[in-house]
Amino acid sequence: MKIGILGGGQLAQMLAQAGESLDMQFAFVAPEQDACAAPYGKHLMYPYLDPKAKEELENWADIVTYEFESIPVPLVEALEQVKPVHPSSQALTLASDRLNEKNMFNQQGIETAKFATVDSLQDLQIAVEKVGLPAILKTRRDGYDGKGQVVLRDQSQLEAAWESLSPVACILESMVNFKREVSIVASRNVDGDIAYYPLAENYHREGILRLSLSLQNDPKQKEAEEIIRKVMEKVGYVGTMAVELFDLGDKFAANELSPRVHNSGHWSMDGAIASQFKNHLLAIANQPLQDTSLQNATAMVNLIGAIPDKDLVAEIPNAVLYDYGKEPKPGRKVGHINISADGDNDEDFIPNVIKVLDMVGQQELIGELLKSSFYK
Ligand code: AMP
Repeated sequence: MKIGILGGGQLAQMLAQAGESLDMQFAFVAPEQDACAAPYGKHLMYPYLDPKAKEELENWADIVTYEFESIPVPLVEALEQVKPVHPSSQALTLASDRLNEKNMFNQQGIETAKFATVDSLQDLQIAVEKVGLPAILKTRRDGYDGKGQVVLRDQSQLEAAWESLSPVACILESMVNFKREVSIVASRNVDGDIAYYPLAENYHREGILRLSLSLQNDPKQKEAEEIIRKVMEKVGYVGTMAVELFDLGDKFAANELSPRVHNSGHWSMDGAIASQFKNHLLAIANQPLQDTSLQNATAMVNLIGAIPDKDLVAEIPNAVLYDYGKEPKPGRKVGHINISADGDNDEDFIPNVIKVLDMVGQQELIGELLKSSFYK
C-alpha cells in the first residue's frame, strides 16, 4: 500500500520506519531539501501549495495522511476530493486554531483554561479583565514548542506582549495551576474502533517537551480516555491523536489536541507492543488496531540541539537512541532516547533514566522524576 505523507520531518520518518513491517511504501511532500524523512521514500520537494505537490501525490498514493498541523487546509481539502485522507481536513481545521479547539472542548463538556479572543490591544485589555492574571497570550495558529506565546503577569506588560505577537489573531488563556501535565494518545480506525495508550506524564522546559513517562494503571486513565473518545467521535477522527491535559487534582482541563502522532507517545516504540506510529498506519488503512498496553515502564527523553555521545548511551542497559539525522541547531529536536525497565522489578531502571537526564543536561528534571506519579 502506498502512503502519501504531507510533511517530511521526524514524525513522517518514524511512520515510514513503522510501515516497513506492514508492506507499505511512502512518499513525502516537503519543501525542505534536507527533510529527514526523505531517505525512507519518495521525496516530492514542492511547496505545499504548488499544484505539482497535489498532482504527484494523488497520482502516486493510495491513502494520504499528514504529520503536522500547519499543513495548508486547502491542500488537504483538495486531496480529499480524490483520495482517502486521514485525519480529515475537518480535524485539521479544528486543531490548527486554538480558538476552534477550545470552543470544541467546551461544547463537548470538556474543561479548559478560561480564554478570550484577542485581535487588538484593546481586546487584550478586555480579555485580561475576563481571564485574570497571570495569563498566557498565544497566537491562534502556528505556535509550537513554546513559540508564539508570551506570559503576562501584570498590566504593564500588555502593550509589549501584543506588539511582539501582533498583528496575528491571538487568544489569552488563564495560567492554570496544574498538579501535573499528562497526555492521552489513542488511535481510531475507519470502522470506529479505538485503541488507547496508557497516559504519559510530561515535563516541559522553555515550552519544549523534555521528558515523557509512561504511566501504569493511572487512576485517571479512564477519565482521559473519555475525553479523547468524545473528541474523536465528534469529528469522526481516523488515525492517531493526542490530547494534552492539565491535571487539576479533581478534574482535567484540556490544553490542546494534535491530529497526528505525538512526541509524548514516542515511548510506545519500546514500551508498547504496537507503537503509536504503527497504529496510525493500521487506523488509516482500516486494519485491526494492535495492542497498546504497557509492556515495560518506559521513559522518553528528548534530545534538543545535540545528540549525546552514542557510545555512552550504548552503555546504559535498555536505552535506545533514535537519531533523526537532522542538522543540530539550538532548540531543535534532533532525536530522543527511550529507556525501558527490564521487567517489573528492575532496580536499575530509574538510575538509568537519571543517567540519561544527566547526560543531556536536564539535571533539574531528576528531582521531578523522583516526585512523579510514575515513580510511585
Ligand atoms: P502549548 O503550546 O499550548 O502546548 O504550551 C506549551 C506548554 O506551556 C504546556 O505544555 C504547559 O507546560 C505550558 N502552558 C501552556 N498553556 C498553559 C496554561 N494555560 N497554563 C499553564 N501552563 C500552560
